[in-house]
Amino acid sequence: MHPRILIVEDDHALRDALRRGLLDEDFTPVPAADGASALRLATADIAAAVLDIGLPDADGRDVCHALRANGFRAPVVFLTARHGLTDRLSGFSAGGDDYLAKPFHLAELVARLRAALKRAASPPLAATGDLVLDAVHHHMRVHGRPVALSPTEFRLLAVLVAANGTLVRRRDLVRAGWPEGAHVSDNTLDQYLTRLRRKLREAGSGLTVGTARGVGHRLS
Ligand code: CA
Repeated sequence: MHPRILIVEDDHALRDALRRGLLDEDFTPVPAADGASALRLATADIAAAVLDIGLPDADGRDVCHALRANGFRAPVVFLTARHGLTDRLSGFSAGGDDYLAKPFHLAELVARLRAALKRAASPPLAATGDLVLDAVHHHMRVHGRPVALSPTEFRLLAVLVAANGTLVRRRDLVRAGWPEGAHVSDNTLDQYLTRLRRKLREAGSGLTVGTARGVGHRLS
C-alpha cells in the first residue's frame, strides 16, 4: 500500500505540483488547502504530513500542535519561506520532525519524507545507561526527561547509540548525519558533536561523545 501523505499548502500551484510529484514517487497524496481541512483529514491512516507554516487560517505550527493534541503521531515536515533559526526551533517545539525552506526540490522533500517514515517505523532505541533515543518523537530521554534534538543531532546520536560504545568513523557519522550527501567540513561535524556533548551534560547524562583522534568517536 502506498503511504498516504497529507499535503497542507494554500498555494494552489505548489499544492498541485506536490500532489503530482508525490504520486509519481508512489505515495498517495491527500491535499488540504488550510489548517481546518488538515485537522479534518489527519486520520490515523496518514503516514506523514507536509505542513506549510504560512496558512490563511492558522500558523502551521499551531496546526501541528492541534494535530499532536488530537493524537496524530505521524511525522510532520514543515514547509516555510522563512529561514530563521527561531522559526526552526519553534517548528520542532511545535512537534514537527523536519523542516524545509522554500524554494526546495521535490527530490529533497521526498528524501526527507522517506527518512521520516523510516524513523517512525523503527522502534525506540535504548542505549546503555541513562539514555533512550525516541525515534517516534525524535528526541532523547535522559533519566526519563525528554531533550529536543535537531534532525541532524538525532541522526548522529542514533548511529553512536547503535554502535553501542564502539568507535564510529567520522566519515560514517557524516554519512549518517547528512543523508542527502551535503558537503560537511570537519569543523561542522565537531560543532554538532560539541552540541551533543553539551545537551548530554546539561541533561545530567553520564554518557558523552568521546574522541579517538584520527579514528572516530564513541558514546561512553
Ligand atoms: Ca503559504
